[in-house]
Amino acid sequence: MVLDSHDIWEKVLEILKKELNPISYSTWFGETELYNIDDNKIVLKVPMSLHKKMMLDNYYDLLNDAFQKITGKEREIDCLLEEEIQTTVEDMVSEIVDNQDIINSNFYLGNESNLNKNYTFENFVVGDTNKFARTAALAVAQIPGLQYNPLFIYGKSGLGKTHLMHAIGNYIVENNPKLKVLYTTSDDFKKDFTDIVKNGNSANYANDFKNKYRNIDVLIIDDIQYLIGAEKTQEEFFHTFNDLHGKGKQIIISSDRSPEDLKLLEERLRSRFAWGLPVDIYPPDNDLRCRIIKDKVKHLNIANKITEEAIEYIANNFDTDVRSLEGAINRLVAYTAMCVPDKIDLDFANEALKDYITNNPYISNDISSIQKAVADYYNITVEVLKGKKRSANIAYPRMLAMYLCRQLTDESFPKIGLEFGGKDHSTVIHACEKIENDIKSNSQLKEIINEIKSKL
Ligand code: ADP
Ligand code: MG
Repeated sequence: MVLDSHDIWEKVLEILKKELNPISYSTWFGETELYNIDDNKIVLKVPMSLHKKMMLDNYYDLLNDAFQKITGKEREIDCLLEEEIQTTVEDMVSEIVDNQDIINSNFYLGNESNLNKNYTFENFVVGDTNKFARTAALAVAQIPGLQYNPLFIYGKSGLGKTHLMHAIGNYIVENNPKLKVLYTTSDDFKKDFTDIVKNGNSANYANDFKNKYRNIDVLIIDDIQYLIGAEKTQEEFFHTFNDLHGKGKQIIISSDRSPEDLKLLEERLRSRFAWGLPVDIYPPDNDLRCRIIKDKVKHLNIANKITEEAIEYIANNFDTDVRSLEGAINRLVAYTAMCVPDKIDLDFANEALKDYITNNPYISNDISSIQKAVADYYNITVEVLKGKKRSANIAYPRMLAMYLCRQLTDESFPKIGLEFGGKDHSTVIHACEKIENDIKSNSQLKEIINEIKSKL
């Protein structure tokens, strides 16, 4: 029997699925497709450049073996991003990986890594707004020190930075137990360092300090913005950074702002932070908020009592960050324990949480119903409507949906942008202007708008 490329890929995926843990499998192969296979070459289509690097650096042998097993022949494997396929630029030059052994395995890991075991990749819910950061974090966890050094995660408070950093640490400790991992905050680093001075610069103390921060394979340092204003500590951190980085040790940093925006930090530190991979996390969109709520209540006794409407109510009203979402869930759990209702419906959730909502609570999410109505009208999915595809048959409905959100709700441009997969507010403004203009000359468009409105 001759296999077509679809069958070949299905069979290769079956093999990979058996070889990899579920997290790695879905992250690296969930959205990867077999783009082309001919006598000499296999080309995979991958969603992000991170995937490409992982395929070529880390999964090449596995893929090679799997393809060979299914097709009986060895071929060169290459990866292309969607953009590259669209523009078909030039032949890809396969990367030469410097596979030097950076892992110094003389250390025995004590239990002083400061890691919180509760923060893992498994319980980190992934959506459009945190996908990039989460993918980069997993890449670093799988091959620490080799690339993306430092990994710099930034975003506002409560969006999951600390969670991701512990997840990286826990993953490394579990899969690479010889590596010594240290999680710390820049505040603790500062405290430890100033203690040296307090202790009259005692050589012993300085030695302990060096041992703690330099005799490790992975340094995870949270909330680096607190080094602002602490010049001596910054200088010490600069040396620690250089020492570890020079030895090929992995450094993971988080901050509430991007490296460029850490204005008050020494320039030489900022520029080093930008050496590796800066990744940002945005506030969760509605879809992610709903999924996080479902995931968080999964193991609680309210899980089978809570209705869809109640979940949406919480997602709509606690929309700034995940920490406030968790706060709302905790209050709901406490209120449920007191009142013991049969069902947690909209009314019950409203009763439990209304005092914690500053504006008028809103009961249903108008943006999602508008998105749904527009997507239905054009026969596309809401996911595609909110996505990044720029082809006209999708971009136009997206602009129309943004316009309707602006016309029919009180939401701001930034909020609408956020609910369309984290787009910038200028994109929303542009969309509204474009549709307003088109309406003037296009009577068919007016009819379409009326028809969609009638469905709302
Ligand atoms: P940050 O460090 O960015 O301020 P945290 O990592 O402390 O945020 O996250 C705040 C809370 O929200 C934590 O309890 C964390 O577990 C939770 N959280 C954040 N993002 C997610 C997510 N994507 N999935 C599950 N829980 C999350
Ligand atoms: Mg944090």
